[in-house]
Amino acid sequence: MRKAIWAALAALLICSGVAVAQDYPSHPITIIVPFSAGGPSDAMARILAERMKTSLGETLLIENVTGAGGSIGVGRAVRSPADGYTISFGHLGTHVANGAVYKLGYDLVADLDPVVLLPSNPMIIVSKNAIPAKSLSELLAWLKSRPSPPTAGTAGAGSGSHIAGLYFENVSGIKLQYVPYRGTAPALNDLVAGQIDIMLDQTSNSINQVRAGNIRAYAVTDDKRVTSAPDVPTTGEAGLPGFLMTLWSGLWVPKGTPKEIVAKLNAAAVEALNDPAVVKQLENLGLRMPPKDQLTPEALGAWQKAEIAKWWPVIKAANVKVD
Ligand code: ASP
Repeated sequence: MRKAIWAALAALLICSGVAVAQDYPSHPITIIVPFSAGGPSDAMARILAERMKTSLGETLLIENVTGAGGSIGVGRAVRSPADGYTISFGHLGTHVANGAVYKLGYDLVADLDPVVLLPSNPMIIVSKNAIPAKSLSELLAWLKSRPSPPTAGTAGAGSGSHIAGLYFENVSGIKLQYVPYRGTAPALNDLVAGQIDIMLDQTSNSINQVRAGNIRAYAVTDDKRVTSAPDVPTTGEAGLPGFLMTLWSGLWVPKGTPKEIVAKLNAAAVEALNDPAVVKQLENLGLRMPPKDQLTPEALGAWQKAEIAKWWPVIKAANVKVD
């Protein structure tokens, strides 16, 4: 008898879970972007959110929860209910590097469920216009000639721009002084204004300022040029062949979010990534679309774990100081 009651109760719980998933979404969803508005993460999230709304029939709101290299925003998402109404947007910095930089109050793998891998961004080496360099080798010579370390704007310790900076220091032998911001949008404003010397930026963030002639670009950290900025050489062509890095992004939800809800979010994101108008918008920013066979939640989970195994030893060896 007891057994029968327990079985009935369990069936009821499963059914109500399925019913919740069937009704999902019934009100707006929040995507937590852990960097400032107007930056590269924010821009990608807004383009996707707009298209995902068509599939899901509900608005996806962007909330910029900034600070500590994105770890404050990710922490907020981790502590939200696992009901599909809070999504964590992040990237190689927030969902990989931060685990090696900060004492996080959460576990990047155990406390989040992956949803989908998103486009990646080659990094771009840019400087303020006042630096009189016409090529990467001239820039390196200028940076080396400084009496004190040149300043590099970042979105905080463990952010994409910071990891790229560490990588750059490693391959060039040039020591940088990092200036942390709440995102690369405000850092870029300061670069345009000449307040900082350089940035190892996401191409999608800098590209419009490069096109407008407000900052100088020297190389993209990929083995192919970016079609929307064809004049900018690759690091290989410009004389720094060891410096290759693309900053991939992704979506996660709090651990324990019902599988049916994760599947709905995944399907909406995949539809967005297959929409030619969305692809055009993203590629125009210099972004590279993820491989079509890597768009399952499982693929993102496996990729994130592989990236943790690759980057944590490198970042820990760099002994990064938290700002
Ligand atoms: N993705 C960050 C932003 O949107 C920047 C970074 O990671 O460097 O500001």
